[in-house]
Amino acid sequence: MREKPPEFRPLTRDEIERLLPPVNARAEAEAQARKSQEDGFCDLCREGNGMVLLQDESGKKALKPCQNPECVAAQKMRIWKRALGSYGSAYSHYTLESLLTDQNLSLMQAKKAVAQFCLKWPYEVEGKGLIFTGSYGLGKTHLALAAMRKLIVEKNVKQAVYVNERRFFQEIRDSYSDDATVTESALLRRMFSAKVLVLDELGTQKPTEWAQNKLADIIDTRMGMAEQVTFITTNLAMQAEGENSLGERIGILCYSRISAMCVHYHIAGEDYRQGPGRATGSLLQ
Ligand SMILES: [Zn+2]
Repeated sequence: MREKPPEFRPLTRDEIERLLPPVNARAEAEAQARKSQEDGFCDLCREGNGMVLLQDESGKKALKPCQNPECVAAQKMRIWKRALGSYGSAYSHYTLESLLTDQNLSLMQAKKAVAQFCLKWPYEVEGKGLIFTGSYGLGKTHLALAAMRKLIVEKNVKQAVYVNERRFFQEIRDSYSDDATVTESALLRRMFSAKVLVLDELGTQKPTEWAQNKLADIIDTRMGMAEQVTFITTNLAMQAEGENSLGERIGILCYSRISAMCVHYHIAGEDYRQGPGRATGSLLQ
């Protein structure tokens, strides 16, 4: 009599594990270490917070920055991404090196200025920031953000903030709604206290008097703080008055303060003539 063939059934989990070769402990440890790195965990500072509690010979304990270079780099990337926030996340790949200048002289000059500014900062820099003017799509936002990234990566800046003017005022208006999770003063405090601030697309809309006053507050406060840097972009002309001038759009007082605070670079096409220089029209100097 022929034997009945065994019925086919899927293996159980235990049976599969018994069939597998012994786990390579070293490979597993390496995979775990890689995962820890990705999660922001570090062998030295454990929690990946970048600080290690060290004890000196006398038994005194002190928190010191973590010396694991991968941990330090990961931390800086976290600061960069936090600075960009949700609506700036599309720019997270921006670096100064990745900015293509396409033989645009004004852009090449501005790129060089950003590199110089970041290299020298906080010493021997003229002004407390840079302002980039020019039409859309010429790389102004890229320049400003690349400057912020350089200061985070190379100068260990920890408090950096990117804001788009239109979105910023929308956030302030939203902070007055009943279901707001953040207060206006918290939003403003972020702008006042950031060591590096990128203010993108300044003057895109005609601000109300209220918004002009907020802007003036922010600029005023930042002007008075040592070692604070502001990078601004606008597609308006760096002039006190006239059609499409920054002065008319944001108010002469705020314009004057910005022109006193920031060195101006205009990004143009092949017919670039203006040349970089200190913005004119200051009432305060
Ligand atoms: Zn660490």
